[in-house]
Amino acid sequence: MPRSCPGMGGSEALAKASDGADIQEIPWRVEDRSYHYQVRTSVVRNRGGLEAGKLIVLIDITQRVQLQEQLRQMAYYDGLTGVYNRARFMSLGTSMLIEAASAGEPLAVILFDIDHFKRINDTYGHDVGDQALLHIADLCRRALRTEDLLARYGGEEFVIALPGLTAERAESAAHRIRRELAAQPLDVPGGELRMTASFGIAATAGLGGDARSAAGLAEGARAEADAVEGAGADAGTQLKRLLKQADLALYAAKQGGRDAVRLAAVGGASA
Ligand code: GH3
Ligand code: MG
Ligand code: MG
Repeated sequence: MPRSCPGMGGSEALAKASDGADIQEIPWRVEDRSYHYQVRTSVVRNRGGLEAGKLIVLIDITQRVQLQEQLRQMAYYDGLTGVYNRARFMSLGTSMLIEAASAGEPLAVILFDIDHFKRINDTYGHDVGDQALLHIADLCRRALRTEDLLARYGGEEFVIALPGLTAERAESAAHRIRRELAAQPLDVPGGELRMTASFGIAATAGLGGDARSAAGLAEGARAEADAVEGAGADAGTQLKRLLKQADLALYAAKQGGRDAVRLAAVGGASA
């Protein structure tokens, strides 16, 4: 069975490979270039069956490893902005929700959608629209903590999971992004493009917290208890429910005139 030796220098890995008779994969760095080899080792015996030496075959698998990395990038990341894609968000977000629940911590999600994005495309063209999405993703990355999970949820919609944050603290984070958006316009031919976005927020309660989710405190607590038991499917359902509530709050922010942040209401319609 192939085994890889991440981070191991070439000669060290090679020495290790020649100990056994198995197949290993090793990275090999030459200056700033990185290569990958499969190392097959077999014992060479003389007529009497005594070990006379070892045969070591190196097969260059650099292209295959690079292709695997490209496929991983495509499966996990959004090609335009470089942030996680929706599928990866759902998978990592579910794990985050389980961890938060088992630690008795809240978890907040922020869903936001760029205001009048169609106008940006219509006025400046699709390429500037693409640049605007990149600009917003970079701005968010800078505004968030390393533990926050940012992803492109859809066309011009982004989602953030913030472990340990109540809805109120996530509201502050959303306002910070909103202010950054206003303060950092995108340079476009002939001037600056100032964008706004509308934000919806929902959160789980954590221990003794205030659940700002229309699912309500009781239901939230029950779902969190399920998550603690390691029921990934239930945590996945709860994440979807949170996103649904954040989406309703986002809709309310749009209805209220855009460039706004709204929290999902506890146990009912969004505020
Ligand atoms: P609202 O304030 O209600 O959100 O209005 P809006 O114009 O932002 O909403 P709408 O859903 O009508 O338009 C979203 C636009 O985003 C339409 C679509 O062409 C554009 N869009 C989606 N993905 C991309 C992309 O990857 N690049 C570019 N340039 N545009 C995109
Ligand atoms: Mg929009
Ligand atoms: Mg949209």
